[in-house]
Amino acid sequence: MARDRVGYFGEFGGRYSPEILTEALEELEATYSKLRKNKKFQKELSYYLKNYVGRPSPLTYAEHLTKHWGGARVWLKREDLNHTGAHKINNAIGQALIARYMGKKRIIAETGAGQHGLATATVGAMFGLETVVYMGEVDVKRQNLNAKKIQMLGAKILPVTSGEATLKEATSEAMRDWALNVSTTHYIVGSAIGPHPFPTIVRDLQTVIGTEARKQFKKENKSLPDAIVACVGGGSNAIGMFAPFLKDKSVKIFGAEAGGLGSKPGQHSATITYGKTGFLHGTKTLIIQDDFGQIVPAHSVSAGLDYPGVGPEHAHLAETNRVEYRQVTDEEALASFLEISRTEGIIPALETAHAFHVAKDVAKKLGKKKDIIICLSGRGDKDVTEVLRLLGEETV
Ligand SMILES: *Cc1c(COP(=O)(O)O)cnc(C)c1O
Repeated sequence: MARDRVGYFGEFGGRYSPEILTEALEELEATYSKLRKNKKFQKELSYYLKNYVGRPSPLTYAEHLTKHWGGARVWLKREDLNHTGAHKINNAIGQALIARYMGKKRIIAETGAGQHGLATATVGAMFGLETVVYMGEVDVKRQNLNAKKIQMLGAKILPVTSGEATLKEATSEAMRDWALNVSTTHYIVGSAIGPHPFPTIVRDLQTVIGTEARKQFKKENKSLPDAIVACVGGGSNAIGMFAPFLKDKSVKIFGAEAGGLGSKPGQHSATITYGKTGFLHGTKTLIIQDDFGQIVPAHSVSAGLDYPGVGPEHAHLAETNRVEYRQVTDEEALASFLEISRTEGIIPALETAHAFHVAKDVAKKLGKKKDIIICLSGRGDKDVTEVLRLLGEETV
């Protein structure tokens, strides 16, 4: 049955990549299936997560937001407090360790908002690996601080000018590089996307988010939360948050997609809401495409959600109705960005602001004495200039 095939989530997932990558993907799959059970690898990973990333990240009770919204108690899983400011480093550290076990001396990555590029450049510097980051030219401009930090860390940044010059093109370029340099290079895919085994590896490495959150919440409340929410670009912070709760039927799970400027093709990145089954970057998943199967450019105010596909496991969770995915417009995300900053004193990433908008509605509907956890996937330093400009606020 389709359900049991390795690397598939229902009908989604699999490995639909050029033949030139088959050997590398098989090597990675074989290495990872050994490492995931290897005590030394797990110990090393835990060491870096604790001593370098700063885990466990806190689960903060958001007292003021709870009062302000007037509904369920709001809890924040603080991935913004990780070294480099987002959840991306959980995956980058893990995959850099895998690269080291495979004897690869060079790592490459794609990046949208620059957070994954930053995380990869960081671990590249720390482990002494040659690092190349592909970034769309548009994103180099709108996320310039991260682009500069990547350079500061000694990585080479290669701006991509083809197509929309954003995340999709950067991903295609990174895959091309990998195909040409597989013997020396590991491609650290930044989200739960791509050909098998990437969606599984990235999910496993990000599951630390949900595992910690579940334990922290249970310790404090002796129960499980009523709902959890995360934003979905490729879907890595979301699947990491959701995975340990999927079997808990009492926990409602929500994903927030980028609704952008509206429902027309080209105006949004709401893959699950508007996408159809197709193939992108080596996986079968939901994709924003036209009637001829051509990929339609995605749009979101947040570079990290600006991707026309979604991780295959999310496509499956949507199809089976285990997770409810809602879209949030640019305008709603900007309003939430401001609201969270000014209510709780935490500036969230624009990506994360999408999750807050969904959480507000869910918290109000749940009502008092219920609990909701939001995955605060990253901090918003990178977005501050752009948000003030978009809101037309006068700046100093
Ligand atoms: C990259 C990023 C996202 C989107 O990526 P996912 O793989 O969907 O998690 C969300 N939030 C932040 C802060 C990011 O940097």
